Amino acid sequence: MRGAYVVSDSWPFFNRSSCSGNEELTHVGRPCCSDFHVDVDVRSFETVEGIDNLIECVQEACARHLASGISSERTPLLNPILRGLKEDSIQSVIVLRKYFKFITVSSHRKALSRLLSADHFLAVERYRHITYDNGQPIPRCERRCRYCRVFVEDEVHVLFHCSALQLLVARRQKLFARVNVLIGETAGNDLRHLCLSDSPRAVHRFLDHPDLCPTFAKYVFDILKFFPL
Ligand SMILES: [Zn+2]
Repeated sequence: MRGAYVVSDSWPFFNRSSCSGNEELTHVGRPCCSDFHVDVDVRSFETVEGIDNLIECVQEACARHLASGISSERTPLLNPILRGLKEDSIQSVIVLRKYFKFITVSSHRKALSRLLSADHFLAVERYRHITYDNGQPIPRCERRCRYCRVFVEDEVHVLFHCSALQLLVARRQKLFARVNVLIGETAGNDLRHLCLSDSPRAVHRFLDHPDLCPTFAKYVFDILKFFPL
């Protein structure tokens, strides 16, 4: 069912344990949390207009609930502004992302989905659930990269910045060499600079391009292997 991928951006926020496509629709159907509740007046069931209005209210509440997950600071690469997402429109929030059509290798698609939705083993997430011996949470700035020990080990750092692991650097160079082949050296260099200056926008540049997208997903798949649990 292709529709199973329509909310792949948002579904992991409701179930962190799996990335299988069939579960995505299941989580769409869950009731909205209390922050996005819908007041129901039983008299609304007495008319078609009342029922239609209730359906619209539920759809909007669900859309805002899902959009709030996508807008989390934990998922900077899912920037809804860059994607033109309308948070009050269920059609906008659950629209099929083009990149799920571009990526034909399931494992690569899953790796990309995990990266975008903060469902990975990078320190920024792993240490979010761990505390110091005194019970205090580990602040984000202390969730440092396991290789360079300097910067926060987050999505942008491992994708575009960390230079402490030669294999990682070599894989990144291979990515941009392939980018130059696909879109030309000038555009490729522009994209490389964008990766450093505005990483979320660069990621979406990758995702929106039918040829760059599968290449980037394979890159993500390879990079995440350098950062196991
Ligand atoms: Zn590093």
